[in-house]
Amino acid sequence: MSYRAEYIWIDGTVPVPLMRSKTKIVKDGQEPGIWGFDGSSTNQAPGSNSDCVLRPVFTCPDPIRGGDDILVLCEVLLPDTMKPHKTNTRADLVKVAKKYASHEMWFGMEQEYTLFQEGRPMGWPAEGYYYPAPQGPYYCGVGAIEIAGREVVEAHTDACLAAGLEIAGTNAEVMLGQWEFQIGPLSPVAVADQLWMARYLLYRVAEDFGVNASIAAKPIMGDWNGAGCHTNFSTKEMRESFPAIDKACKSLGEKGKPEEHLAAYGHGFEDRLTGQHETAHWSEYRYGVSDRGASVRIPWQVAKDGFGYAEDRRPNANCDPYLVARVLAHTVCAALEK
Ligand code: ADP
Ligand code: MN
Ligand code: MN
Ligand code: MN
Repeated sequence: MSYRAEYIWIDGTVPVPLMRSKTKIVKDGQEPGIWGFDGSSTNQAPGSNSDCVLRPVFTCPDPIRGGDDILVLCEVLLPDTMKPHKTNTRADLVKVAKKYASHEMWFGMEQEYTLFQEGRPMGWPAEGYYYPAPQGPYYCGVGAIEIAGREVVEAHTDACLAAGLEIAGTNAEVMLGQWEFQIGPLSPVAVADQLWMARYLLYRVAEDFGVNASIAAKPIMGDWNGAGCHTNFSTKEMRESFPAIDKACKSLGEKGKPEEHLAAYGHGFEDRLTGQHETAHWSEYRYGVSDRGASVRIPWQVAKDGFGYAEDRRPNANCDPYLVARVLAHTVCAALEK
């Protein structure tokens, strides 16, 4: 029997790229292989020369369709040269990951997101003052007043598990209708591929509920939490010694580094990193043990053990994990080699 391969890629929409996908019927016994699409419809090519190439990079079972059907995450290439398209940020990460492979870097990424229905976050009132009670009871909450959208979250977790993704956990977040899942720890390229695949599954699962999953960094302005993608990172050396963790955290504050990193951490960080919620102001770099008001946090357990990892709290929910992993791998590994 033939099977269905859902080809998935990241488009050229600015400032935040969207995910796209289309279905290929593949004959029994054949591999999915190279394919193409119309780049003029995705902001990836002019109409006069519209073809872009899809090359499969990560494949897993399709938990939505089941059976022999699969999901195929692709990178985008130029048709004439087969070189990476400018929207293909994965290709550069592959190079950096190879260069620093001896450091055995691991990443764990915490994807926060907001579920929207009928134009507002799930659980938010349709009438009256349009706002729920202030933040407080929602984070890791339980109960019909504290929680909205759990059915979507559970279906998404089931899908990630059935696809074989390294999902590490889920929790309700500080704003009503906001949630999180974590992917990792995994190597740099694997964490980014799997996070993109988990995002695809989130959009796809939510679609069946008539719900829009948003990774906007500040979905509701005002005294409401933004949505981040805290990135936990370690090298072999950091997993063995505290001085290496301290060195890594310090390197992120060196001249020019905070700006370089923020540029790779997603759109709209100025709205989210205000210093009012969850992290330091974007213009200030700080790190500290247990400090959730810092840019980078060293978990208390890590300080106690004397080895482990650190958490960069700055990446936005809408970040490109290929860019985040690349810039972190480069800064941290180069510093540890000095
Ligand atoms: P938080 O307390 O910040 O909410 P979470 O439990 O949501 O933390 O996420 C922590 C993440 O750190 C998990 O995804 C986990 O896989 C990851 N992690 C654990 N150990 C390491 C490590 N040594 N290197 C990198 N990531 C790690
Ligand atoms: Mn978390
Ligand atoms: Mn969180
Ligand atoms: Mn965190």
